Amino acid sequence: QLQNLSYPEQLEFKQKKVEKLLKRFCTVEKIIGMKTPYHYRNKVQAAFYTDKKGKIISGVYQSGSHHVVGIDSCQTEDVIADKIIVAVRKLLPSFRMTTYNEDTGKGFLRHILVKRGFATNQIMLVLVTGTPVFPSKNNFVKAILKQFPEITTIVQNINPYRTNLVLGDNQKVLYGKGYIEDILCGCRFRISPKSFYQINPVQTEVLYGKAIEFANLKGNETVLDTYCGIGTIGIIAAKNGAGNVIGAELNGDAVRDAIVNARANNLKNIRFYKADAGEFMREAADEDEKPDVVFMDPPRAGSDRKFLDSLIKMSPKKVVYVSCNPETLARDLAYLTQNSPYKAQKIQPVDMFPHTAHVETVVLMSRK
Ligand code: SAH
Repeated sequence: QLQNLSYPEQLEFKQKKVEKLLKRFCTVEKIIGMKTPYHYRNKVQAAFYTDKKGKIISGVYQSGSHHVVGIDSCQTEDVIADKIIVAVRKLLPSFRMTTYNEDTGKGFLRHILVKRGFATNQIMLVLVTGTPVFPSKNNFVKAILKQFPEITTIVQNINPYRTNLVLGDNQKVLYGKGYIEDILCGCRFRISPKSFYQINPVQTEVLYGKAIEFANLKGNETVLDTYCGIGTIGIIAAKNGAGNVIGAELNGDAVRDAIVNARANNLKNIRFYKADAGEFMREAADEDEKPDVVFMDPPRAGSDRKFLDSLIKMSPKKVVYVSCNPETLARDLAYLTQNSPYKAQKIQPVDMFPHTAHVETVVLMSRK
């Protein structure tokens, strides 16, 4: 999206975008860019298409459409992940594997997904298929492992639905453990195929570092980690002095990962709940919970009234809002500042997605 700009110009573009939306709340700190803004994506996805002559292409959807644009490598993506995708594509004809056609709903392979732990070099290959029967699966697994012995796990995910979602509900582990692990801020995390994990680990350490700095934990605080995914922020907070952490997340696989992750990092003062974050906050407010710090990291759509009203009711000393969408962040900050004594104290943009128009922001709020 932004490769027509030099990297410093991209950062300036994002700085202005965040300032335009957020400077009415507080001064915006200078965006933190990446030292080497290439091949940063640890998760790469590909869609497939077979043309009239039977030639298979793999790549990404053209923006705003479902037209597959063939791509063999990309400057934002992990190099090994790109190579694995091309290798899988080249193996398809010899295994008589067809590609899924979205118009007819017929065909076998819908997508592939590769996730790599940059710190551990564990690699997961997920083959998303339209039907469960995978005739030559053992030979296929052998063939791809022969080319890429560094792959540590292979999963078949079955998605039979007419849907835009990449992953379906059922999966089978074909090789390895069915998950990978990675290390961030000195903590170890297990990541399942369907769990959310930040896609740029280098900048994620910068982002989480800021979030922890803003929380300024002294020890013994009660901390909520909402929209917690696999528990990264809460676990790092617990390692950095939080007395007691409670996490909430909607995705059951991610919650399971979070529980394992707390144990793997020798933390006993953490609990995780599978719940809608707004629902969880309402219950916590009704039970008169008094957290000291609330971390919130919602998806692009931002948070909701239920969440924000309960947050106001519980009135923690600090709220640390991590956002991947400055528009919904501005909307939520406007609601909070108009309906409560909270005021933004610090706004820090971080460039998690070089060469794209996306920008991540972390905001510290406290009561006036
Ligand atoms: N804090 C985590 C995850 C952030 S992504 C990290 O840094 O890795 C946002 C997360 O919110 C995803 O894991 C998604 O599954 C979850 N989510 C989306 N809607 C939700 C809701 N209504 N309630 C709770 N969690 C939700």
